[in-house]
Amino acid sequence: MNFSTEIKNSLANLFKARFPYIYIPTWEESRACELVKEIAKDESVIKVVRKVYVWNQTDGFADAETGKKISDTATPIKGLEFVDKNNENAIYIFKDLHNFFGVSNRNADYALIRKMRNLIPVLREGQFRENIVLVSPQLIIPEDMQKEISVFEFPFPTVNEIYELLNQMLAENGINSSLSDADKVALSKSALGLTLQEAENAFSRAIVKNKGLDKEAIGVIFEEKNQVIRKTGILEFIKSDLDVADIGGLENLKNWLLKRKNSWSESAKRYNIPAPKGVLITGVPGCGKSLTAKAMSSIWQLPLLKLDMGKIFSGIVGSSEENMRRAIATAEAVSPSILWVDEIEKGLGGTGSTGDSGTSTRVFGTFLTWMQEKTAPVFVIATANNINSLPPELLRKGRFDEIFFVDLPTLEERKKIFEVHLKKRLSGIEVARNIVIDSEFLEKLALMTEGFVGAEIEQVVITALYEAFFNQRDIAKEDFYNAIESTVPLSVTQKESIMRLREWANVRAVSATGCSDRQPAHTEQKPVSSPNPKPEDESSDNSGSDGNDSMSSDRGGRILDF
Ligand code: ATP
Repeated sequence: MNFSTEIKNSLANLFKARFPYIYIPTWEESRACELVKEIAKDESVIKVVRKVYVWNQTDGFADAETGKKISDTATPIKGLEFVDKNNENAIYIFKDLHNFFGVSNRNADYALIRKMRNLIPVLREGQFRENIVLVSPQLIIPEDMQKEISVFEFPFPTVNEIYELLNQMLAENGINSSLSDADKVALSKSALGLTLQEAENAFSRAIVKNKGLDKEAIGVIFEEKNQVIRKTGILEFIKSDLDVADIGGLENLKNWLLKRKNSWSESAKRYNIPAPKGVLITGVPGCGKSLTAKAMSSIWQLPLLKLDMGKIFSGIVGSSEENMRRAIATAEAVSPSILWVDEIEKGLGGTGSTGDSGTSTRVFGTFLTWMQEKTAPVFVIATANNINSLPPELLRKGRFDEIFFVDLPTLEERKKIFEVHLKKRLSGIEVARNIVIDSEFLEKLALMTEGFVGAEIEQVVITALYEAFFNQRDIAKEDFYNAIESTVPLSVTQKESIMRLREWANVRAVSATGCSDRQPAHTEQKPVSSPNPKPEDESSDNSGSDGNDSMSSDRGGRILDF
């Protein structure tokens, strides 16, 4: 198989360093065994070549090369006895031994665990080079063996491996396809993040559906991949045509992100730029955090995977640790990619508590370590609403490149958000013929909506359209003013919590709003606590109001311009 030198070396290093037990959690049992076999016979990688034996509960041990069975080894203890007695350099692969490790440390086979521990000195210091490899679809490590078992993260197949599979399938099925080599690479890339078996299924489906394999198959494979990934229940590919122009305001955040586009490219290497790790975006609900995350995919032209933190811990889809590991492995497999961790606080908020026997702490630890050490080009965009449940470790320097605070939109930002939504809904429709989206109209709408979040502004536009539709007439400016008047913005009902958010952000986060969109307090029209007075007439001059009580005058997040 076409394994990369990197993966071979990293597993071989564990063998060479005489790690007694190496656990490979994977669904790809045969691919994992192939890797071990390739390493074991490759002197350039492992130095001391070894024989490989494979064990399973039905047949006991067999020689991996010849298939010859070793008699009387069909129980785990008997299998370990064989390891103990066998005098040669060897690697012993045990399949599915996790079935004997119990659930949550209950019902484990303690005699087996004792035997495994007895073998440690033999494996570490014995005359022969021997290692035991545990291959299972689930990662279950007995408490007593935590320090003795090393977990080897078995990555998804690389482009080269998938490419090899594709060629093999084309040859085996006698498909005389018109695919160029570049097309084959593109097809192989589209299957990244799938196991070899899943990739084979995806290609087969594309062959059947398209009656052959051509460039168009990428769509089918992507769809298949999306389904496989969605089936895990924790990850989802987000396809969005939102772009930077769909985000009104948040210039600082947008500029920061735009400057980091292509940071994994060859040209970035010339500048010795460290790969960006990710951003944490927190702030007032409805102000564009998710919108920005979704637009990232188009801005950076990279696949976007959304990780549902709530589901990681739901217990519905496997163990939390397993879920987190799988999510990380998938994001790495499709890298360069963006991993959007929505409502990160939902998963990590419970850390330190003892209620879940330390599961959140462990899962959180896995995530943090990965954030710190990741080398694969996966950019994390984490969004959070409830800052109180964010553990301090997450906010420590070095985890995220920057923490952004998205506040209530300023006057200038509200104009931009109105412009985005008005243009989106009114452009080219006949019933909007009386509406001119000019600076005067935008200014007036913005002045009337101090304290409104982006989502409420969007809602105002939609409500106005409904009103005109209901009355079966052209849309009028009054429809928008009336919609504003009938809205009580979230900032009024949740004034206290927004103030607390700002206090938090002042010391920890950078403002997402650009400097040019920040207004002197006196230009904001009115305090949020008495919302929405209707302007007396279209030409009313609001610049005189002092806005002392205004929520916009005291905004959260440090002011830095990117
Ligand atoms: P929550 O935390 O409640 O999910 P959020 O900050 O993630 O809130 P979004 O989901 O991004 O908010 O916003 C909801 C909708 O409001 C967006 O889909 C978009 O239509 C509109 N909206 C919010 N902010 C903006 C903005 N800055 N520019 C344009 N539209 C916006």
